[in-house]
Amino acid sequence: MSKRKSRLRHLHSGVYHRAAWQCQMPECLCPDGRKIDRGLRGTDDPWAPTVDHIKPLGTGGPDSQGNLRAAHRRCNQAGAVLQLSPPARPKPPPLTVTIGDLFPDLGLLGRRDPDL
Ligand SMILES: [Zn+2]
Repeated sequence: MSKRKSRLRHLHSGVYHRAAWQCQMPECLCPDGRKIDRGLRGTDDPWAPTVDHIKPLGTGGPDSQGNLRAAHRRCNQAGAVLQLSPPARPKPPPLTVTIGDLFPDLGLLGRRDPDL
């Protein structure tokens, strides 16, 4: 195991211990408060332990205790999807551009120059 992996594993163990193996995701998908199953560590099981970065690594979040929380794998993935979804934006107002706005000279076409 590399030094970094070993350090992360140690760090993550601390996160699970601090959380008493409870999922800390605000939107935990387990309604009955099911504990994170430490026996599933390293597996792809939806209830396996994972560590979530509160501030994502991609946006400069550190690999430190203060930025980590324990999560079920499925809750962590659902949280990631929520973060990737663009925020809901208000609907833009309907277009009210008229032909005259786009081509102001068009209005002149119908006019006759009195000097001609
Ligand atoms: Zn959960």
